[in-house]
Amino acid sequence: MWAELSPIGRDASTGGYRRYAWTREDHTLREWFAGQCAARGLDLAFDRAGNQWAWWGDPDAVRADGSTGGVAVGSHLDSVPDGGAFDGPLGVVSALAAVDALRAAGLRPRVPLAVACFGDEEGARFGIACAGSRLITGALTADRALGLTDADGTTMAEAIAAAGRDPASLGDDPETLARVHTFVELHVEQGRALADPDAYDQSRSAVGVGSDIWPHGRWRIDVPGTANHAGTTRLEDRDDAMLKHAALVLATRAAATRHGCVATIGKVRVEPGGVNAIASHVATWLDARGADEAAVRRVVADVVGAAAPHGATVTDESWTGTTRFDTELVERLATTLGPDTPVLGTGAGHDAGILATRGISSAMLFVRNPTGVSHSPVEQADPADCHAGVAALTAVLTDLSEAAP
Ligand SMILES: [Zn+2]
Repeated sequence: MWAELSPIGRDASTGGYRRYAWTREDHTLREWFAGQCAARGLDLAFDRAGNQWAWWGDPDAVRADGSTGGVAVGSHLDSVPDGGAFDGPLGVVSALAAVDALRAAGLRPRVPLAVACFGDEEGARFGIACAGSRLITGALTADRALGLTDADGTTMAEAIAAAGRDPASLGDDPETLARVHTFVELHVEQGRALADPDAYDQSRSAVGVGSDIWPHGRWRIDVPGTANHAGTTRLEDRDDAMLKHAALVLATRAAATRHGCVATIGKVRVEPGGVNAIASHVATWLDARGADEAAVRRVVADVVGAAAPHGATVTDESWTGTTRFDTELVERLATTLGPDTPVLGTGAGHDAGILATRGISSAMLFVRNPTGVSHSPVEQADPADCHAGVAALTAVLTDLSEAAP
């Protein structure tokens, strides 16, 4: 499976992946997934956001005990700009491999089982992460999504139509959600917790269970200044927005350190943006996250406090509180995987988090990442750890789908 996936959307100059929603590469990946599912005799269904669900067993069946709904495993195949090979695909490949492992062991699920492939998880093209899962849960409305534009000014509606799908079909999808009782997303870890010898026993911690997604938010900071000539204006006469911005970047870092969080300023827009002009305005964005909601709020409060003397304003753009995965499911996965299985939170958003907010029993498995690097071509996972991930997912699926000979 890796051999087939590896050339798709790979940029020869960077070695990174550029697999954006509703592009030719995205289409090729969806076709690849459909082919894998057909080869395994799974029944493929699209939902109203174009996410793919491949079922083993009838997802609409009512079981003898009156229960309904199945267990789904999977992840996404799209990427960030110049992303790594594992972020997303590891979860899809592992899910397909787990189905193969169940078959090889002669097991059949009693509870219907799906391999899911979400679209547009990274939001690399239209700017909204987890767009596929947000659409079917109603967290992102079809009206808003269809009007989003990419860097070339193409709307999502135009992109979906160009990909051969009907943009009018986009929308929330309670029928699909009703089929999914439980969702487990396996993902490469995007950090070094499992690889940290001080945190976990390296002989046993190739796979961990995700307990929650950290609270996170985005804020826009507007820093005022006065445009003037870079050559003729004396230093003491300047009102330089960029200089104030620099102070705020340092204050942000100090606040994050003080409160045990992470905070990032990685996007800046400068006016007038000339090499020989003093900046008259800087718009900049703060991304802050941490394990504790109150601590993240304190970071932002400190940034607001640092901004005020400069006349800068801080505006809320988005906030997502802690997303807790289903506690019982987390415990069940940890029990299945055995004693000393690491249970850890994550600072990254995932489709599993979106489904959890809609009441679907959700959790994640993380596979060790030796460097912790993600959203980069050098993202890595050792083959042995990937196989441990498949074995873990197979054990989890066997348990949750009540698979038996
Ligand atoms: Zn991902």
